[in-house]
Amino acid sequence: MTPAAEPRAGLRDVDPYVSPQLDVAARLNTNECPHPLPEAFSVELAEVVRDLPLNRYPDGQMTRLREELASHHGHPVEGTWTANGSNEVLSELLMAYGGPGQTATVFEPTYLLHSRLARLTHTQLAGLRLDPPYALDEPAIELALAGEPDVIFVCSPNNPTGNAQPLESVASLADRTAALVIVDEAYIEFGGESTLKLVADHPNVAVVRTFSKAFAMAGARLGYVLADPEVVADLQRVRLPYHMSALAQAAGIVALHHTAEAMSLLDAIRAQRDRIVRELTAVPGMTVFPSDANFVLFVPPSPHDARQVWRALLDRGVLVRDLTAVVPNALRVTAGASHEVDLFLASLQEVLSG
Ligand SMILES: *Cc1c(COP(=O)(O)O)cnc(C)c1O
Repeated sequence: MTPAAEPRAGLRDVDPYVSPQLDVAARLNTNECPHPLPEAFSVELAEVVRDLPLNRYPDGQMTRLREELASHHGHPVEGTWTANGSNEVLSELLMAYGGPGQTATVFEPTYLLHSRLARLTHTQLAGLRLDPPYALDEPAIELALAGEPDVIFVCSPNNPTGNAQPLESVASLADRTAALVIVDEAYIEFGGESTLKLVADHPNVAVVRTFSKAFAMAGARLGYVLADPEVVADLQRVRLPYHMSALAQAAGIVALHHTAEAMSLLDAIRAQRDRIVRELTAVPGMTVFPSDANFVLFVPPSPHDARQVWRALLDRGVLVRDLTAVVPNALRVTAGASHEVDLFLASLQEVLSG
């Protein structure tokens, strides 16, 4: 036998990305929208898909999808770019602005994919830890700038802590650096002030959005960035040919015709989020982090161990996210449908009193 091929140095130190999904009564671990898409959307999508010429390559410039997104946001189409989920947008941004010799700063605790993508693109990582309430304050900004990074990630509202960053803080950061400031706004439809208004006079700000959360389209894999046309021109240099299928492009275009229905569900989701915060805050000893997103981070009262609480919730059909590796003893629960939140709250009460 010939020897097995060896991947590049360090690759096998990277754990594969896995997010186990279990078939339980309440899946509250990945911040999806609990409500299916409206019937009118499915009917229109089916019609559009039936007529797609799938024997041909798709539009490699995603022209129509980008035009509709640009007009939806009042942003130039040359500064609007789409990919398969915002994760792919982030990956393309790091291929263009990260890489060997480049440094990326992340404010932790935050979305693990940012540092993961930095590592995978051989970008040097500068991780700065924020303390509760996890605000991007002046000392944090100064510390970040002192590292002279090439890329700075801001996640607002932040996953997993839930807080949005004040627009003035992001502006102050962007004003004082030539680094590309990537603002991950995966949850912005649920709360917080968008950084989009900074983009016009800050060509170093890139606002990344997704269809996976508020648009209820995690399965379609659609994300986009609103940035300066120069940034999009750089993404054109690293993108794969025809990276977005005609199916995904069609789904995005049809979804944009139904934004009113999707957005009408947001109030119900915010109401469940606020209910979770209220109910958890009433539990003696519980730490609850205020949330501008569609999830809530909490630390069970001592002496409860979060991992044991996670397991006991699962035994009752409730899957939440174990974030103990990111924030000590913390769990994150998605604001799901009301019956899912009922089950979560009742189960948690049982677990904590048991
Ligand atoms: C869920 C999430 C995303 C979405 O990623 P997609 O690839 O668009 O599904 C992006 N950023 C953060 C912080 C998230 O939590």
